Amino acid sequence: MDCTEYRLLMTARIDNELDAATMAQFAAHVANCPECEEEYEALSGLSSDVRMHGERYAAPAHLKQRILSALPHRPPVSREAGKWPWAWINFGAALASSAAFVVTLGLYMAAPTSTNGLEEDVVSSHYRSLLVGHLTDVASSDQHMVKPWFTGKLDFSPPAYDFAARGYTLIGGRLDYLHGRTVAALVYQHRQHIVNLFVWPEQGKDGTAQQSVSRQGFQLLAWSDHGLRYWAISDAAPQDLAELRNLLDAQIRGETSSGSQK
Ligand SMILES: [Zn+2]
Repeated sequence: MDCTEYRLLMTARIDNELDAATMAQFAAHVANCPECEEEYEALSGLSSDVRMHGERYAAPAHLKQRILSALPHRPPVSREAGKWPWAWINFGAALASSAAFVVTLGLYMAAPTSTNGLEEDVVSSHYRSLLVGHLTDVASSDQHMVKPWFTGKLDFSPPAYDFAARGYTLIGGRLDYLHGRTVAALVYQHRQHIVNLFVWPEQGKDGTAQQSVSRQGFQLLAWSDHGLRYWAISDAAPQDLAELRNLLDAQIRGETSSGSQK
């Protein structure tokens, strides 16, 4: 493929519509082609700006009611030449396309283990952090540097622990934007794999079963603990993410039971 073809793929890439093989090919090209990289950066910047700052309005329930009650049960049919019910035809076309949209949305919402696009966001953030070389805002394997770095930047304190001795080296942290909120991303290296561990507060999820899925060639593991929601993602094996979770759990339990918070 040449640059022209890669540029055609850019919006699909931003919308996470590429399959894993094409995505990898795309990443390899962009990493080695400054022109395409610049173009891609500009496009994804625009995309995230719109997502972050774009105005959104939800249709109120009474509007839905009004539209439904204004709809006839059956559009009038006229067989007389020159008296085509154009208005109804146009309206019908509009209705058909919005019906198609509703069907699409329905399929999307009904997709198994779908969490309303959150998984896709996790994959995008992980992929973006690798692609643009923006893994960390604070690069340090010293948990006493990473944890305080988040202070004042977030309204919660993410657990930042290094498990280098167990094969999971904390290489830093960064702020990320996931599904409409600012989250902490803790970055681990496990052998040759990078693990992004996204953390944010979410009450009422404790006790939710751990969720393990694979998306676009990545493994994702989600769980909740002590009012925090965790999403780990990597191209490592599922059991590697589970092990990271166990290490973290043990560390948090240890701190909680000894009553000392670092
Ligand atoms: Zn190129």
